[in-house]
Amino acid sequence: MKGILFVLSGPSGTGKGTVCKEVLNREDALTISISATTREKRVGEVDGETYHYVTKDDFEAMIDRGEMLEYATYNGNYYGTPKAGVETLLNEGKDVMLEIEPQGALQVKKLFPEAVLMFLVPPSMSELKNRLVTRGRESAEEIAERINTAKWELEQADKYTVIIENDDFEECVKTVLDYISQKRSDRAAIDRLINEKV
Ligand code: 5GP
Repeated sequence: MKGILFVLSGPSGTGKGTVCKEVLNREDALTISISATTREKRVGEVDGETYHYVTKDDFEAMIDRGEMLEYATYNGNYYGTPKAGVETLLNEGKDVMLEIEPQGALQVKKLFPEAVLMFLVPPSMSELKNRLVTRGRESAEEIAERINTAKWELEQADKYTVIIENDDFEECVKTVLDYISQKRSDRAAIDRLINEKV
């Protein structure tokens, strides 16, 4: 049986990075795909762990060689999922998680209609802004850009399999984990039916 491809999206500041990290901590049988990006490495980030940091020329060469499963431009930088790792893992029966924005998620949905797309939303836009300001990673100008992008991203939410609110962190992590196990048991049940000798 092939692995399941899970996608987690949500506006910047929703807390999807933290939720994703915790879900992966508690879920051994799930592998995160490391994306490539042209954006600057931030303090505390590790090349090859947080992202593969590449130049614009390198990224465009990867696109030209057909090496990207999906890619998008987000606030002036390229972000994309390298194809090779994801396909190998899925073919080995391993479940894979992509933490990506909606332009990319919708490309994934076209390529893998069976992928499970989860969209995290904040409790309110003012809370989203508050989280972006409090984490202090971006300039005021970047925060304004991210909030603007968030509105477009939220318009894509109903194209996802499920929408999950991140109000309480622990509850949100549990909902994502429960959803993943539900999808696994659904797939296993269907697989048993298909393979049953009659
Ligand atoms: P950040 O700059 O905050 O790390 O990421 C900005 C946005 O890019 C986030 O919404 C993140 O989920 C998204 N992103 C990260 N990696 C990828 C990727 O490989 N493909 C796409 N389409 N989006 C990505």
